Amino acid sequence: MMRLWDSLQALPASARALVVAAPWLGSGQSLGAVQAAALTGFALSFGDRITCHDRCPDCDTALGVQLSAQALIAAQEAAPEVAGTLSHDGWTVRYHLPTQTDLARLDRASGPERMRRDLLRATVDHVTGDTRTHPPESLPPGVVLALAERMEQEDPLAAAEMALDCPECGASWQSGFDACAVLLARLEAWARRTLWEVHQLAMRYGWSEARLLEMAPVRREAYLLMDVP
Ligand SMILES: [Zn+2]
Repeated sequence: MMRLWDSLQALPASARALVVAAPWLGSGQSLGAVQAAALTGFALSFGDRITCHDRCPDCDTALGVQLSAQALIAAQEAAPEVAGTLSHDGWTVRYHLPTQTDLARLDRASGPERMRRDLLRATVDHVTGDTRTHPPESLPPGVVLALAERMEQEDPLAAAEMALDCPECGASWQSGFDACAVLLARLEAWARRTLWEVHQLAMRYGWSEARLLEMAPVRREAYLLMDVP
């Protein structure tokens, strides 16, 4: 994990969330697969429980939400296999699930309408209707909707959201969940804390960084709690 943290420091902050899950990513490159990879990295390094924080949009009450990394990974694994072809209302669409590369090409300043259209163009590889080939833009809204539903079923973690209720005022809202950002924040906090422990113990006992990083965290903590004469 320290080597992963090292390699991330070489990247601009905005690019780190895109690659933090790479060590656990298999052959699937969809947004949901990347989220599942980040959750796997989180579970292996920091345990199953993820704590997210949000604020009520109505009364600003702070809220902590507990999620299970394994439960989220299971939801992605239970998704049906990617069909790659959708037949709907006489149209046949060949598609792939959205990837980080597809998202990175979108112009965020262009507005949600334009971004939706560009994402459709990026993920639809071929369209046939009445035995002729058409551009993705010509798909009727009903087919686009069916395609979006299909992608959501096949890639459930792609745009995961938490349904939250405020215990103070009863407001309900949806909050986005980004496993890559969660893993990145946790890794950052862990690395800073670990380096602080190494610094303290190296100064006190003269032990090397390599030795201290190999030491079990509970033992480092036990030494830190000892009285210095
Ligand atoms: Zn509230």
